Amino acid sequence: MSLEGKTAIITGASRGIGCAIALTLADAGAAVLINYTHNREAADEVKDKIISKGGRAIVVQADVSDYSQCLTLMQSAIDNFEGIDILVNNAGITRDNLLARMKEEEWQDVIDINLTGVYNCCRAILRPLLKQKSGGKIINIASVAGIYGNSGQANYAAAKGGVIAFTKSLAKELGSRKINVNAVAPGFIETEMTSVLPEDVKKDVITRIALGRLGCPEDVAETVLFLASAADYITGQVIAVDGCIAL
Ligand code: NAP
Repeated sequence: MSLEGKTAIITGASRGIGCAIALTLADAGAAVLINYTHNREAADEVKDKIISKGGRAIVVQADVSDYSQCLTLMQSAIDNFEGIDILVNNAGITRDNLLARMKEEEWQDVIDINLTGVYNCCRAILRPLLKQKSGGKIINIASVAGIYGNSGQANYAAAKGGVIAFTKSLAKELGSRKINVNAVAPGFIETEMTSVLPEDVKKDVITRIALGRLGCPEDVAETVLFLASAADYITGQVIAVDGCIAL
């Protein structure tokens, strides 16, 4: 699964799943753009790891919920790399609460970053991607919460369900241009996002996973690599990376 000569933009790549995706795609030969919002130091560490192994990487700050910042993000990739081949929309947040207690900003922040952020990045990359006429791969990181729903995550599940519907629609729009659009739906993956869960909750979750363990960021990254490199006849799909969880 080689990405030699390809370029990839990964949003939210300073930590967790995005970091693993950046390292995995770089190991496969891609030049990668590492995006972040707040954590410059962590993003630089990812870049340094890639460069120390002889790879190519740049770091660009942008808030994906702001369309003008997404345009600048895509322009940085165009200016620094030979073209754009792969966009991984990974940036995401949680603001969990039962709906009865959910504040309007908890709803809005999650929709703005997790759903509008995907729309913003796809919209910002579309024109240059179509102009290149060389096809491409868009991979959106959704969640099993967007398939099954999850108590305390009405905002997050709505955003991720939206990402799945958006993915299927865009795949239909862009198929004739050889641009594949797929989603990956992780289950419970050990990152900072899930580190806030109490130990007893984690233990309970594990009892509901057929493979008997939480996922790791590399489990998701390997699936993204497959979709980015070897999956030319797969589009409009959602691949769950959840160890077969019963939610
Ligand atoms: P994480 O460890 O909390 O990392 C989140 C990343 O997103 C960071 O790099 C962060 O950048 C970036 N980010 C946050 N807001 C942003 C914004 N407005 N613009 C640009 N970047 C932003 O999260 P994770 O667990 O790796 O999750 C990554 C993706 O997988 C998310 O879409 C999440 O919903 C999805 N997912 C995760 C799980 C799980 O169990 N962990 C399960 C299902 C789906 P800074 O470092 O600068 O803050």
